Amino acid sequence: MKKHNFNAGPSILPREVIEKTAQAVLDFQNDGLSILEISHRAKNFQPIVDEAVALFKELLNIPEGYSVIFLGGGASLQFCMVPFNLLEKKAAYLNTGVWAKKAMKEAKGFGEVVEVASSADANYTFIPKDFVIPADADYFHITTNNTIYGTELLKDLDSPVPLVADMSSDILSRPVDVSKYGIIYGGAQKNLAPAGVTFVIIRNDILGKVSRHIPTMLDYRTHIDNGSMFNTPPVLPIYTALETLRWLKANGGVEGAEKRNIAKAELLYNAIDNSKMFVGTARKEDRSRMNICFVMKEEYKPLESEFITFATGKGMVGIKGHRSVGGFRASCYNALPIESVQALIDCMHEFEKLHA
Ligand SMILES: *Cc1c(COP(=O)(O)O)cnc(C)c1O
Repeated sequence: MKKHNFNAGPSILPREVIEKTAQAVLDFQNDGLSILEISHRAKNFQPIVDEAVALFKELLNIPEGYSVIFLGGGASLQFCMVPFNLLEKKAAYLNTGVWAKKAMKEAKGFGEVVEVASSADANYTFIPKDFVIPADADYFHITTNNTIYGTELLKDLDSPVPLVADMSSDILSRPVDVSKYGIIYGGAQKNLAPAGVTFVIIRNDILGKVSRHIPTMLDYRTHIDNGSMFNTPPVLPIYTALETLRWLKANGGVEGAEKRNIAKAELLYNAIDNSKMFVGTARKEDRSRMNICFVMKEEYKPLESEFITFATGKGMVGIKGHRSVGGFRASCYNALPIESVQALIDCMHEFEKLHA
């Protein structure tokens, strides 16, 4: 049976990217060795990192003065690396969900943390709009896509202080004006690569301003100065990331991805909005294109687990909502074809016919 992969992360990758990775695992560049058994300093691996960095810069139109680095540790390590490198006295955070809260918690170990606004009281069903970013903060931290709640901040904010964004789950899903950001980071396992590599886009001139000692491995400058090769980087996930970036470039870049993502999201949100049985959870103006969250209306609630079983039987994978929202979540990352969204909608219609 054909599987439709709506996993929230790690998640779907383009089939050809997986095939190319598999080939590199068997025989990297017809050299007689697997990519798993070569040195990261081998002369045929350096060009992989170089091209991945160059494509990242090209696809996101990253201006001069920025570096792109690949690290380990996931987005969660960035929750600590960001304040370690940037927080001298005070940092500002927008609280839009569990990930934002975790980032805030880490920063509290380094200085004063100001929560400029929060949607916690409404179970993070929207993105706060009216807030003031303190001009004396060392940086302002946002989470552009809230993977668990299905809300997304699609606007590149104007900030009087360096803007730091966790883009784990919407990186490369649309164009962004990188010049408005000091740092953009994320775990790659949502839209780019398998788990194991973290990307960081960083404006070089915001570094070197804190007075504390920064351990070598946690200092961004270490990894910038050594081109992500200070120690052994996650070789295989970087290779897969490169193949995803090549795939993206061949398919219209982030502009092409955005068009496809809008089409998929509209299709599914329309089906939800026109349904007797299902209802969306996020406020309409803040709806995510990447993670589409919905539940059953009160009168049908007892049927939720039956729908999961029904949809699973028809090949849907990973549509159970996060426990803090319940219901369903369809993650529609770059690699998910619109046919999968249509298959899910067909499932919803069929189930409604049986029960509504
Ligand atoms: C998944 C996710 C994280 C956590 O990423 P790890 O790489 O597992 O640490 C952080 N932020 C957001 C927005 C996420 O979606």
